[in-house]
Amino acid sequence: MRLRHIPGSEEAVAQSPYVISGPESYRGRMNELFGNDSPVRIEIGCGKGRFITELAHRDPLADYIGIERYSSVLLHALKKIGDSDAGNLLFLCEDASELEKFFVPGEIDRIYLNFPDPWPKDRHAHRRLTSPGFLAIYRNILKEGGHLEFKTDNEALFDYSLSTLRECGWEIPASTRDLYADDLSEENIATEYEIKFSSRGNPIFRLIAEPDD
Ligand code: SAH
Repeated sequence: MRLRHIPGSEEAVAQSPYVISGPESYRGRMNELFGNDSPVRIEIGCGKGRFITELAHRDPLADYIGIERYSSVLLHALKKIGDSDAGNLLFLCEDASELEKFFVPGEIDRIYLNFPDPWPKDRHAHRRLTSPGFLAIYRNILKEGGHLEFKTDNEALFDYSLSTLRECGWEIPASTRDLYADDLSEENIATEYEIKFSSRGNPIFRLIAEPDD
């Protein structure tokens, strides 16, 4: 995404009570930050936070952590928490390649990945958040029976993701190439990017993937 740096965003993010500071020290016990035993679900690349803020509000029986590497972007998500805060939403300002520093194997119940950067050039394929290196990290931190939910408007990225997931031994129990033409469930929460792309008439691709054991 095109990034406008907001001066002071690092400090504002570091001081926010909604951003986990020193996350390495909570590795394996993220639940303690929430004070419950609920399943922990994460969104990778949560951007400005519309999706995870709404999800946490609708589903108080799970704990949610939004992960975004840029403080200037995360700042927007922090502003959205406000009144709907049910104590089950926190954020991490970190890079997804570092996830194993914060979570032990099997700690995460579900991973959401919405509209990640497509990195269209072949030589950048390893940066895609569905490339084999990232899938290995997700498999490691997901608990048995956990799954990944992925949405994009980018057909090439969707096709790439279907093949890397299959090559890496994931099953795809559900997928669609046009979420809005399908029976769009009331449960769908549109992200900021999704609103933009679907309003232009772009089809939205979605899949659910589970590691096979
Ligand atoms: N999910 C949001 C934003 C999509 S844009 C939406 O659907 O509206 C992709 C986001 O992922 C950007 O905010 C980008 O900064 C973030 N991102 C990209 N690579 C990342 C990484 N390796 N770790 C954490 N966040 C990442």
